[in-house]
This record gives sequence, C-alpha cells and structure tokens, in this order.
Amino acid sequence: MHSNDEFQYDPKTDTVRVSRRDLARLLLQFRTELENNASEDDQWRHMHDYDVSFERLADAVNSGSRPGTEPDERLRCKRTPAYKWPDLPPYQNGNGTGADPARITGGYGTHYVVMFRQTGRALCGLNFTREEHRKSTGTPDCAVCVREMDLMAAIPRPEETPAT
Ligand SMILES: [Zn+2]
Repeated sequence: MHSNDEFQYDPKTDTVRVSRRDLARLLLQFRTELENNASEDDQWRHMHDYDVSFERLADAVNSGSRPGTEPDERLRCKRTPAYKWPDLPPYQNGNGTGADPARITGGYGTHYVVMFRQTGRALCGLNFTREEHRKSTGTPDCAVCVREMDLMAAIPRPEETPAT
C-alpha cells in the first residue's frame, strides 16, 4: 500500500507525481495493445476527447527527454489502420501545412486553426465562432496546437513512407 506522500498529491491542482519511466511504459504497452487489437470499425480517434488526455501524457514523458534528443513518437497515435485521424488540415495532407495561426478573443491566446470553416476548431480542440478569431502571425502560444503541427511533420502518412 502506498501512502499519498509517495505521489505528492496536490489537491489544489488535482495532480499526482508519477515516475516518467512508469508513464512511458504504460503508454508504450497501451499503444502496442491498441495496434494488436485493431479493427476497421473500432479505430482509436486521434485528438478526439479521450485521446487528448493520452497525448498529454506523452507530452509529459517527452518534457523530460534529454535536450537535443527526438521526442519518442512511439508513445503517440500513428498512421496505421488502428487509428483514425481528423479529416481536416493539416491532418489531410500530413506535412504540417494547411492550418493558420489565429488569435482567439477572450484571453484564449493563439492557436492553429482551419480558417475557412464557418465555425472554427483549433488543433488543440478549442471551439470558437467566426467572430471570435482573427489572423495572427508567428507561432501560436498554445503548446498543444504547436505539438500537433510538429506531429504532422514527424509522422508521415503510410504512402509517404519511403520503401525500405
Ligand atoms: Zn490550441
């Protein structure tokens, strides 16, 4: 039995402290099981509700990577039949283009969004109306939006993977 102390539970933020190694092992095994049990009609949906939490856990593991090392993409959704990716840019073309930086009014900062939509959705999942955003420049300050764009560049679609 573990005491609460071991995990340094913080009631203010409802967070616990866990070993980075334990978390990485959990995610690796989870991704393996997911691939092994993949089926056409039960795909894991990247950036859908539940997946946002899993990608955040991978962010936490990668935040502890040694400087200069690549993030561990094995902890993330892949371009395999086990996964369904959102049907909008930049996910469609898969090369990290097709989304524009925009500032969302109301203190929500800057995000990558698909500009042509009547109602918008940032790559991080933030929803907004047409009136609530305007074009911005530079890199958004939303870490999840930035990660999603980086993922598009790092995880090529199967047809873009060079034959070995
Ligand atoms: Zn965002």
